Amino acid sequence: MNIIIFGPPGSGKGTQAELIEKEFNLRHISTGDLIRNEISKESKLGKEMKEIIAKGELVPSEIISRMLVEKLSTEKINNLFDGFPRTLMQAKFLDVVLNIDLVLNIEVSKELLEERITKRWYCSCGASYHEIYKKPKKKGFCDICGKKLFQREDDTKETLKNRLEIYESQLKPLRDYYKMKMIKINGEQEIEKVFSDIKFLLSNFEKLKNQIN
Ligand code: ADP
Ligand code: ADP
Ligand code: ZN
Repeated sequence: MNIIIFGPPGSGKGTQAELIEKEFNLRHISTGDLIRNEISKESKLGKEMKEIIAKGELVPSEIISRMLVEKLSTEKINNLFDGFPRTLMQAKFLDVVLNIDLVLNIEVSKELLEERITKRWYCSCGASYHEIYKKPKKKGFCDICGKKLFQREDDTKETLKNRLEIYESQLKPLRDYYKMKMIKINGEQEIEKVFSDIKFLLSNFEKLKNQIN
């Protein structure tokens, strides 16, 4: 099974993907994480991308596709895509590579997103936290590995505006493209409740598929 998870910045894609990955046999692939990883290496490509994402703009699709192909070619397993595809061209590229079964669309109103992203904290191990909704046990440090947490440079009120505009204009054609596969998820509920809705969907989806085949 291959799944895509859509949602505006701060809607909870990464948080849910982490939970889904643990419960189901899916590999979480986040293009945002791949980009941030390249930036942390301070490579030439990383430096170029740093400028682009600081503005909230999209990284060119050729670069994204190249990073993705590298990741996908390592092993053939089920994937959970987060932050990809973001354009029609990327969606078509993905269809050539594999079959998408289901598209989850996490919906959260604009008003809630600012608080979600400006109070979001990350660890370099990939874990993420929230000052109010997902507090680390020790303030400022990761529960899993104990390292110091940091905030993303693009997680500001100003960048959010641009990122949201880009997200909304790009979701429109993708919504049409995936019409038959897309299921809405209410992302304004508590983290555990959002996950239980997703869990219900995915476990029944797998059962149904097994019955048919
Ligand atoms: P995305 O990957 O869509 O940008 P994240 O999963 O990183 O979003 O979530 C953004 C922030 O909001 C994080 O700090 C996360 O801990 C928090 N968060 C995620 N889901 C919820 C939720 N359902 N309710 C409250 N806070 C949430
Ligand atoms: P969020 O979790 O806040 O939704 P991401 O971590 O997915 O954001 O992405 C952060 C930034 O990385 C985006 O604003 C964009 O600049 C870039 N990016 C991520 N995925 C893609 C993609 N598939 N195509 C182009 N740019 C991307
Ligand atoms: Zn950590």
